[in-house]
Amino acid sequence: MDRRKFCRTAVAAGVAASFPIMGACSRSEPPVATAAKEGISAISLDGAEISLSKAQTRELGGALQGPVLLSEHPDYDGARKVWNGMHDKHPALIARCQNSQDICHSVDFARDNNLLLAVRGGGHSWPGKSTCDGGLMLDLAEMTNIDVDVAGQTAWCDGGALLGHLDDATLPEGLVTTAGVVSHTGVGGYTLGGGFGRLNRMYGLTIDNVLGAELITADGKVRNVRADNEPDLFWAIRGGGGNFGVVSKFQYQLHPFDRNVLSGMLVWPVAQARDVLEFYAEWAPNLSREMYVGPVMATMPDGTNIIAMEVVYNGDPVQGEKELAPLRAIGTMIMDGVLLQDYKVTQTQEDATTAHGIRSYAKNGLIKEFSQALVNDMIDAYIPDPRAAIFTHTCGGAVKDHGELDSAFPHRNAETMIVYFSGWTDPEQDGEGKAMCKQWHASLSAHHGGYYDNIEQETAGTVVSNYGPNFARLQGIKGQVDPGNLFRLNSNIKPA
Ligand SMILES: Cc1cc2nc3c(=O)[nH]c(=O)nc-3n(C[C@H](O)[C@H](O)[C@H](O)COP(=O)(O)OP(=O)(O)OC[C@H]3O[C@@H](n4cnc5c(N)ncnc54)[C@H](O)[C@@H]3O)c2cc1C
Repeated sequence: MDRRKFCRTAVAAGVAASFPIMGACSRSEPPVATAAKEGISAISLDGAEISLSKAQTRELGGALQGPVLLSEHPDYDGARKVWNGMHDKHPALIARCQNSQDICHSVDFARDNNLLLAVRGGGHSWPGKSTCDGGLMLDLAEMTNIDVDVAGQTAWCDGGALLGHLDDATLPEGLVTTAGVVSHTGVGGYTLGGGFGRLNRMYGLTIDNVLGAELITADGKVRNVRADNEPDLFWAIRGGGGNFGVVSKFQYQLHPFDRNVLSGMLVWPVAQARDVLEFYAEWAPNLSREMYVGPVMATMPDGTNIIAMEVVYNGDPVQGEKELAPLRAIGTMIMDGVLLQDYKVTQTQEDATTAHGIRSYAKNGLIKEFSQALVNDMIDAYIPDPRAAIFTHTCGGAVKDHGELDSAFPHRNAETMIVYFSGWTDPEQDGEGKAMCKQWHASLSAHHGGYYDNIEQETAGTVVSNYGPNFARLQGIKGQVDPGNLFRLNSNIKPA
């Protein structure tokens, strides 16, 4: 099997290769402020209909360096769209912020007018939390600057940058930090929720690499959030999502890194799933931190049902080959695509199959023990449909170096996260697409111990239990910095 073809098609054959959301709206066009010709109707924080006057919207347009887009602006339609094509919403205004001051003015505007506020980083939220109907979309898409301090091995990264921007800025310097598996995901929502990636067994979650952040809170103030400066907020933004304000910049710890890494996919027919999964269950708990390897179950466009293992070895390739040898010896593979290659190739291999505009549904479950019962259920639960797949994010290693109370993210003792994903393009398949994902998730739910909030479609009612021992502290901090719950379009922690 051709390796590149596999990478392009493993998620779902029904997914079109490209859905460019930007259309008429190029991010490189110079900003053009738009004055409102007449008052516009909008939606308040509580969902009531309100009206914004001409003068109010002009005032915001005048205060910002970036443009404020209203529905008649030619860039509006491109700017309002988010990654998941299921969320086709129309904000009353879009503030395309250029800097921290633009964010402050936009936050002040939303708060003072009691206006519904959505903060858009990379726009990847599965449930579409970064957009809204009738509110203000505070759009960070043009804030993508990254400054790398090579000697100090740190980087300041704008809150609207994408993971690909971060890798592009650090890899040429021989440096890296943990970043997720699709390069067009935003650093904003991704980092604030936790941040799983192919290097997390070595360097921890992305939140474990956050040294500080510039945060604009609901009072419109800019706060320098660090462990020694704002300890509560520093704790809360590492896993507590967008509840506490808008991050205009993150500071990340970087690590020396050789970008030529042993990586790729090992693929077997699904008929060999028992051998592969039973081996993995025994082998995985003793893996080195350099080794990241996790099962994938999917259906190829030609109908071939597969079990695969994604492999990334962050270390001496000779050692990596040795550690991998027993896995490679299992059964008869239909493809061995593990080779020494540029990390950037691995970090972008899922980009096309998860392109903007796809209609998608996702759930996940955190697995404390990869047991025999789980293996049995994974085999029974398999859905042979190219629109559905399961992936895993391997945890353990450095992820477990931090305790459940050390940051807002409590699920430190998970060995693996199983991600249930479905993707399709035809709106008529929405029901079927969602149902497949839910069914696969439900079949294995007995093995889940909590979930990762960033890869979850519906979290209403479970936020309290999923934050577990951290919820009360999170709620207290929320009450101090956002008592009016201005930042509510997220996995919302209601102020006490
Ligand atoms: C194709 C795909 C692949 C993914 N792969 C991974 C992965 O490998 N690892 C992983 O851990 N997760 C992964 N995720 C999940 C991802 O972490 C979340 O979807 C995350 O919310 C994306 O961040 P974003 O900025 O792009 O999202 P957005 O939709 O812009 O925002 C999501 C939430 O974060 C808030 N937010 C965004 N930016 C800021 C900011 N600067 N300040 C304050 N609040 C902000 C928004 O208001 C919203 O509530 C993936 C998602 C997709 C769709």
